[in-house]
Amino acid sequence: MIQSNLPYDYDALEPHVSAKTLRFHYDKHHKGYVDKLNKLVEGTVYADLPLETLIGRARDEAKIDILNNAQQAWNHAFLWESMAASGETQPDGRIKEMIESSFGDVATFKKQFRNAATGLFGSGWVWLVQDGDKLQILATGNADSPVGTHLTPLLVLDVWEHAYYLDYQNERARYIDAFLEKLINWKFAAANLRETGNTRAA
Ligand code: MN
Repeated sequence: MIQSNLPYDYDALEPHVSAKTLRFHYDKHHKGYVDKLNKLVEGTVYADLPLETLIGRARDEAKIDILNNAQQAWNHAFLWESMAASGETQPDGRIKEMIESSFGDVATFKKQFRNAATGLFGSGWVWLVQDGDKLQILATGNADSPVGTHLTPLLVLDVWEHAYYLDYQNERARYIDAFLEKLINWKFAAANLRETGNTRAA
């Protein structure tokens, strides 16, 4: 049985994400994917797998309905952790150095992330991921997720309309800016970094 948890109160991200949005997003959308997944896997070989293992297996076996709901369950759990009530607005230490070596500086990273998130057509997710000793911005459509691939997710933004429409209506760019400037949990992103050893090619 896959569970879902919201790691803070519904009003923790106000004023950038309202309690009303978070209530719908967590109680209806996230929980909806989790409930659907649990129903789909009941009595199957998937039922007792940890979520990441389940995603890898569903991907390998092209069980698309299970894969979509499992990725949405994982992506949302990762999303809650990617945002912090206290909103540490700047990265520091190793992750800052990797942003600078990968994008030039933090401002350029934010600009590229913003472009990826405003430019993603329809529903999806925008990620900061680690690929060896480099960081990349990755946009994925619908439920797609880098979890279980060679890329390590560091943080994610949900750009499905249900994530922002109650607060920002059609103004996706304002929601993205609030995430970039006020909400990113850089401690969480930094904690997801993998050791790269040295600069040897993988
Ligand atoms: Mn969502």
